[in-house]
Amino acid sequence: MSVRKLKIKKDDQVMVVSGKERGKTGKIVRVIPDKAAVIVDKLNMVKRHQKPSQKYKHGGIIEKEAPISISNVQVLCEKCKGPVRLGRKTLGEGKMVRYCKKCGEVIDR
Ligand SMILES: [Zn+2]
Repeated sequence: MSVRKLKIKKDDQVMVVSGKERGKTGKIVRVIPDKAAVIVDKLNMVKRHQKPSQKYKHGGIIEKEAPISISNVQVLCEKCKGPVRLGRKTLGEGKMVRYCKKCGEVIDR
């Protein structure tokens, strides 16, 4: 599965539609194409033991986002106020954009 085909991008607002975080929304901070997964800001937090490092000077237990399968998230449409399926279309200038299949609203600007 390619990310291109999945129509999902960094900074997209998404809703988790399955799994323990179901119904929660957040912004995609990272897409992991190899795993067909995304990291959503402050969602699917897991506790990890962290050795002291540059970033975490004292180490200990930190909370970190775990990847969520792309199949478990859907992009939110501002107009529909909910998760929707996206389509792709080409605008006049030849620019490819994603749009909401429900209301037709263009997601990319
Ligand atoms: Zn819509």
